[in-house]
Amino acid sequence: MTAFIDLQAQQAGIRDKIDLAITKVLDHGQYIMGPEVAQLETDLSVFCGAKHSLSCSNGTDALSLALMALNVGAGDAVIVPSFTFVATAEVVSLLGATPIFADIDINSFNISTESIVEAYTLAKQHDLTPKGIIAVDLFGRPADYSAIEKYCTEQGLWLISDAAQSFGATYQNRNVGTIGTITTTSFFPAKPLGCYGDGGAIFTDNDDIAQTLTSMRIHGKGSNKYDNIRIGTNARMDTLQAAILIEKLKIFSDEIKARNILAQKYHNAFKDIVQIPDIPDEITSTWAQYTLRIDGGRRDNLASTLKGQDIPTVVYYPIPLHLQKAYQHYPQVNCSASELATQQVLSLPMHPYMDEQTSDMIIDAVKKALA
Ligand SMILES: *Cc1c(COP(=O)(O)O)cnc(C)c1O
Repeated sequence: MTAFIDLQAQQAGIRDKIDLAITKVLDHGQYIMGPEVAQLETDLSVFCGAKHSLSCSNGTDALSLALMALNVGAGDAVIVPSFTFVATAEVVSLLGATPIFADIDINSFNISTESIVEAYTLAKQHDLTPKGIIAVDLFGRPADYSAIEKYCTEQGLWLISDAAQSFGATYQNRNVGTIGTITTTSFFPAKPLGCYGDGGAIFTDNDDIAQTLTSMRIHGKGSNKYDNIRIGTNARMDTLQAAILIEKLKIFSDEIKARNILAQKYHNAFKDIVQIPDIPDEITSTWAQYTLRIDGGRRDNLASTLKGQDIPTVVYYPIPLHLQKAYQHYPQVNCSASELATQQVLSLPMHPYMDEQTSDMIIDAVKKALA
């Protein structure tokens, strides 16, 4: 079976370093907020250029903490794309606020600025206070930030960049992690930069927000954890995960290069036969997924033909959030592009360790199946 994401190949290359890093943690025994946590945060800031990098328990908690730091609560509306992983909207609902689903641009799979304007108007019609936007960099491709930032400035909205899939990408020469009021990411194992369990991080250039987040992730601590100056939670990253990420971050730039080489190979092979991902020159992607768009019933046929040849594919995501049982009751604007995307998308195997023979084999199989 071809691997959809080959985490074993990555591990084989750095196993001795990971073993040593884990051993060091077992030796010093500071499992919670040990020295590796602060080291990782420094390394993340060096990597992406954010003034403050805060590690946390996972990408969902990163979003929750961000919303808590921005004081989101009942009566507030937060505009989110419908075509994303559920965590993007779930955190809004959990805080008692209302997610207003906006549609995507079918070519980028990311939130559409025209639809944001509609969602803003709809929120007002429902007597909600639009507070901000969570833009998602789906599949590793940054959203259309210059247009979104312009709208946020005009309307006095904050912007959270949900970069769970795009840490390591760039937008107009700006690194992901430095865009928006707050950026969040996830180190879930299958993300481009993943740990060996759950992990996440939050980035901001705002000193006050960083201070609030630091307190919130440890029970709203003041001078210490038994001095509680605000309502917080437990959302720390384990020292062991930080130790693993320190080693993985060292090879991450090379991995992003390898992902881009594979994406380019896929582009060249598929550009004349199917809709390939559209990445403008001003953007680089981390290729969390390489996602084709295929009309009609051909998508499902292709998936089953490839499955018959032990080539795995995945449909990210099969149901847009505005149609999900748990979310369909929220006020909504037209999200037809999100619906179309769920019917057309198919993600191919993508990881930095694929050999030429395997990518040739996948390309051949896709071409034959679509012929
Ligand atoms: C993975 C993901 C999250 C959540 O991250 P976890 O670490 O799994 O909690 C949030 N948003 C998007 C877009 C994601 O892909």
